[in-house]
Order: sequence, then structure tokens, then C-alpha cells
Amino acid sequence: MRLILEGSGASRGMALGRARLEQPSRFLVDNTPLAQADVAAELVRIDNALALARAELKGLRDKLSGPLAREVAEFIDAHGLILADPEFVNGLHNLIKDGRFRASAALKMQRDSLVAVFEAMDDPYLRSRREDIEHVIGRVQGALSRESSVEERKLASRVGEILVSDTVAPAELVPLAEHGVLGFILTGGSTLSHSAILARSLRLPMVVGSHQALAHLRDGDLVLIDGDSGNVIAHPTAQDLASYRQWQRDVAQQDKRRARLRDAETRTLDGIEIHLHANAEMAADVARARSFGAAGIGLFRTEFLFLQRRDAPGEEEQFLAYRDLVLGMGGLPVTIRTLDLGADKADSAGLVLEDEPNPALGVRGVRLSLRNPQLMRTQLRAILRTTGYGPVRILVPMVSAVEEVITIRRMVDECATQLRKEGQQIAEHFELGAMIEVPAAAIALTSMIRQLDFVAIGTNDLVQYTLAVDRNNNELGELYDPLHPAVLRLIAHTIAVCRRNRRPVTLCGEIAGDVYFTAMLIGLGLTEFSMHPGLILEVREVVNALHAGELRKIAPRLLRATDRAGIDAVMHRMRARMSAVENAVAAPAIDC
Ligand code: PEP
Ligand code: MG
Repeated sequence: MRLILEGSGASRGMALGRARLEQPSRFLVDNTPLAQADVAAELVRIDNALALARAELKGLRDKLSGPLAREVAEFIDAHGLILADPEFVNGLHNLIKDGRFRASAALKMQRDSLVAVFEAMDDPYLRSRREDIEHVIGRVQGALSRESSVEERKLASRVGEILVSDTVAPAELVPLAEHGVLGFILTGGSTLSHSAILARSLRLPMVVGSHQALAHLRDGDLVLIDGDSGNVIAHPTAQDLASYRQWQRDVAQQDKRRARLRDAETRTLDGIEIHLHANAEMAADVARARSFGAAGIGLFRTEFLFLQRRDAPGEEEQFLAYRDLVLGMGGLPVTIRTLDLGADKADSAGLVLEDEPNPALGVRGVRLSLRNPQLMRTQLRAILRTTGYGPVRILVPMVSAVEEVITIRRMVDECATQLRKEGQQIAEHFELGAMIEVPAAAIALTSMIRQLDFVAIGTNDLVQYTLAVDRNNNELGELYDPLHPAVLRLIAHTIAVCRRNRRPVTLCGEIAGDVYFTAMLIGLGLTEFSMHPGLILEVREVVNALHAGELRKIAPRLLRATDRAGIDAVMHRMRARMSAVENAVAAPAIDC
């Protein structure tokens, strides 16, 4: 039966696939008592489910080949024996007939008593075989609750998998994508999490906060996920599938239209050049950045090199990765951010502290690097060695005090001196910048700016820390608001301080690639954006229809607005100004 589950779209696009539940052993039990009249039907249900599970096992066994076929066959046979065991089957029948339990409840009771028997065994090997019980019964449960039609099953067998889980860690995403996962439905998660950022990079649709997904979906269900609206459709109808095909056609057409903008300039109607850089997390992003006409890489998140491994990459390995990035950009500027591990980006190499009471406020970003000077030096050396291959800037995350910048600057200089002594060809001068993503850094920017060659505003964290709203907690969705007056003032203040001190300023949080905010940011005087490569053409299209001078005239009203309704009204005016040509005026003087 068609079912719509609501959530929030965290990574755009649609995907059709089979659901794969991450906790297949989680039992969904219907505990309502069975009426006498329904007993016969419930017995048929459980027998059908057992037959389906047996048929699945037989199908799996028939497909076995290769060196491990014999061992795997033994496991399958063991599972088959459990399903055929009269004690097991009769036990289920008796629970339904005499106990008036529904099939799912009977199955759970049988599982619990079998698991208890295995767990009581002295032999550790036999004890470990409780997993077999979990797998077999999970299979019957899946079969029991599957309501798909024959046609749906046929279609589902031809499409890939959509992972349904509570959360997914950034480190798990790439391997999952490599194993054919087409999209993600998470009961938790958030649109601003690093997992969501990575899903966007991998172009895999993701829906977060779909609270009912684990309760209502079953392994193998055909699901259609819409990462734009945040809707998940289980058991889609022919009409849903037709809309999916229409979406595919629309995307193809939109891509064709925007492709004309690949080599176009990004310039407002009054001639202000806007630089659209790309955020990159992995090597593949470089090719995409080039193909969408990015002005450079505005943010390379190096921590993703550290996530999928048990040891930290050494200098040579990092150097090669950064050098390929710089070479790949063919002379365009590249900003490499030093390690921002911590909080939701936990590595497997043990660098991030475990069990921090509050990891988002703990040892992450530059704090972690300063506690591990050797780790920092290795990374700085690797980055500095790439400066001979193209224009490279070094960006430091999570800065909250000028002393951190001064220490890093000293480390950069020491590493450079050492590299020169070793005969390495490195640039004469290096630009060092800070992410402004902690409110303290934004507020105290005037006392820090002289130590910085450039600034990058990280709104993803700036919003989280200004409003005390966890970016990874979708429950707080509404409160996570980049248009909160406090956030707007910090953004405006940062841009104004940079402009006054003639320091380049980029904004590389997710709002940089969201066309809803483009007019506002241009109005606040921003001319450099960094975003997912796939969003560049969309933002370029909007920028080219805006008039910067007009927007800058309206911007002070945005900062004078006392509440969200007032801000929304100004936003509306700004967005309505698209294509309205008027005289350009200087940027407003904005103060915090
Ligand atoms: C940010 O905080 O806005 C940012 C770009 O950094 P990250 O999302 O990697 O924390
Ligand atoms: Mg950040």
C-alpha cells in the first residue's frame, strides 16, 4: 500500500531503490490480541512468510559460486534447518492458535526464547551462533511484513538500495556509495551535518528526520526518495513512477539550459564581478568544479582524507592528494583548510578524543591540531609543498582567539624554513586565513584581522554556535536559522571589517549555494562565495539577474529589522529586485 513518509530534504535529487534497513534485527511487533476469526488467516500469513524465507535461501544457495561457496552454503543450510525445524514451526503455530498472538509477536517470542538458549551455552562458538537465529528470523520477519505486489518485487530486484537508518557517519558514506547505495533515509540526522554535506558531494539524495521510516519500511520495500521535498514514498504507484521519470527529464533539460552558463561570467547587472568558488571534499569534486566554471576551490575539507582509515595519512600521501588538487585546478586559486576533525567528524585513527561530554564545544578543528603539533606540522608541510604548483591558501578552522592564529603562523613559518633548507621549491609568501565560524572570532575580528591574509565565513557552524542550536539535531530544525538577527549582524560585521581592512572574504557555509540567500549576501557586500560545485550554475544564473547597488541600498534595513517577520519582508524585497536596474551605490557601513 502506498505510503508517504515526511522528512527534510538534506541532499537534493530523487532515487528509486529497495529499502535496506540498518537494524533488520529491530522487531516491529503488533501486540494487539488476535480474534478467533482471524487465527486461520494469521496461520496462513506465517506459513507464507516461512515459505518465502525458505525460497529466498534456496535462491541464494543456487547463486553461490567461487572459493567460499562451500562455507557459505553450510551457513545457508544451517539457516534452512532452523526454518524447517518442526519444534520451531509448531511453536509458532501454537502461539498463534492457542496464545492468540499475531504472527510478528509469535515470531519475536520464538526468537527471544531461542536466543536465550544460545546465550546460556558455555561454548563460545555455539553462543556466537545466536546471530544465525537473528538472521533467519529477520528474514521471516521481512517476508512477513512485505506487502509488495509481484510487479513491485520484479521492479525492486532491478534497482539499487536505499539505506534506511537512524544516522549515518560521514566515514561510512563513501564505502556505502561505492557499494551501490543510491540514497539515504534517516530517522535522525540534519540537513547541515557533515554526512549531508558529503551526500551532496556524492550527489546521493538524502532525507533526514523521517521519524517513521524505520517503523514503517521493511527490507526490500520499493521506495522513491525525494531529496528536494523531503518526502519518501513507499510502494510508489505507476503515477509516482511517472513523476519520477518526469523529474529525470526536467533535470536533464535544466542541466542543458544551465550548461550555457558554464563559461559565462558571474557579474551583477551593474557590473560587480562575483567570484563563485567550489567547496571540495574529494578528488572527484575538482573535475566538477572545473566543468561548472568555478573560480577556484574556496574550501577543501582535508579531514575527509582522514576519515576512512585506521591510520592518519603521512606527509607524502597528503602532499600527493593536495598537489593533484592544485594541478587539477590548472592555476586557479585553491584554499586548503587544515584538519577540522572532531564533533561529528570522528576518525578511526584515534585522533579525536572519545567520550567528550560535548564534542561540538570540545577539541575540534584548530584545537585538535594545536594539541597534536606533529600532526599539524605534517599537514602544513604537505600543503606548503604544493605552493610551487599553483596559488594555494591555508585556512584554519574553528578559530576563537588571535593567539591560535599567531601560533599557526609561527608553525607555518618554521615548516617553510625547514622545507627550504631541505631544498624544496616552495612559494615566497603564503596566505593564511581563518574560518569565522565561532561568534567570538566574528565579534573580535577587528583585533585579529591584521594577523590574517583572508577570511572565510563558515555559516554552518556560526549559526550553530551563535544560536546554541546543534547543527546535527534535526529536532531543532526551525531554530537553526541563518536569518536570525544575531547571525545576520555577525555576517554583516565580518564582511564590513574585511572590506574596511581590504582583506578578501568568502562565505563557504551551505547558504552560499542556496539561491534564497544570494541577493541578501550580495546586499551585505559579499563578492566571493564558495559552494558545492553542482550549485554554481544555479547561483550564477541568479547573480547575473541581480543589481548589487540596489541590494546594498536595501541591506541596512535588514539589519535594522527587529524580528524574523521584519527580516522576511526585507528579504522579499531584495529577491523581488532581481533584474531591476538602478544605480549602484557604495556598500553600507555596517557595525555589530
Ligand atoms: C561551516 O561551518 O560553515 C563550514 C563551511 O565548515 P564545515 O561545514 O566543514 O564545518
Ligand atoms: Mg565549520
